[in-house]
Amino acid sequence: MRLDLHIHSTSSDGALSPQDVLALCEASRLDVIALADHDTTAGVRRLNRLGVRGDIQVVPALEVSSTLDQRELHFLGYFVDPDSDIIRRHEERAIRLRGKRMEGMIQRLGDQGIEVKMEAVAAAAGPDGTALSRPHLARALMEAGHIRSTSEAFDRFIGDGHPAFLPTSLLSPEEAIEMIKEAGGIPVWAHPPENQVESLLPRLVQAGLRGLEVYRPRHPARYTLRLEGLCKAWKLLMSGGSDWHGPDKGSALGDFWVTGEEVTALLEEGGM
Ligand code: AMP
Ligand code: FE
Ligand code: FE
Ligand code: ZN
Repeated sequence: MRLDLHIHSTSSDGALSPQDVLALCEASRLDVIALADHDTTAGVRRLNRLGVRGDIQVVPALEVSSTLDQRELHFLGYFVDPDSDIIRRHEERAIRLRGKRMEGMIQRLGDQGIEVKMEAVAAAAGPDGTALSRPHLARALMEAGHIRSTSEAFDRFIGDGHPAFLPTSLLSPEEAIEMIKEAGGIPVWAHPPENQVESLLPRLVQAGLRGLEVYRPRHPARYTLRLEGLCKAWKLLMSGGSDWHGPDKGSALGDFWVTGEEVTALLEEGGM
């Protein structure tokens, strides 16, 4: 089995619609995927409505944003109820607050002589009524000719802690974990930062964290081993995925996958 338990679509900051993601996954010979858009299950709901999924099993998921000390921490919620009221309310709030945050970041860019319009950011987000996020701003900056690549936008302006960055300020890590649990999901820490994972883990486990995203394309082998060790020590579930956002990032969907053995405990916990 080939699994990719972390994929984005146009429902958040990905480049392809949920349907196109699914078609590409099928062509890329993946068996199980988790559509894990930022702060929304709209893509999962759309796939459910369309009812077209061929041979691929889709784990209903989302990636919840939280802020701690002006930095962003993300939590994957696997096997959530995509229709739950708590997620619907979170989505609406995220759209509203992320809109305000985007205005703030545009203002900060303006203070540095970088002009970009809200309309251009909204256009970059596409027609799905998606909550605005930094990759949309990065695309708008690129189209306006201020930068040559989206990574330049993060390195110079909008990466965590950079001059034009503002945190999402939607939830604390504990609130994000609690929300996932209330939506019936399994909270897993996405891309835990190397310099914070050991220090933050106790309080996150205390809050109900159940797993770590261990397997990712660019994790150095020794970091994967360290995360596997933490999962053993803390009895946590292991997950893995590409965090694929689109074809522009250099790697194709299906280049990276995890095996059934690597994530079997998580799938069983979710009833798969
Ligand atoms: P936001 O939720 O608006 O804070 O945006 C977070 C998203 O920005 C992440 O999910 C990534 O897609 C993207 N991102 C964050 N940091 C970087 C970076 N250094 N380089 C490229 N993309 C990034
Ligand atoms: Fe993203
Ligand atoms: Fe993330
Ligand atoms: Zn992600």
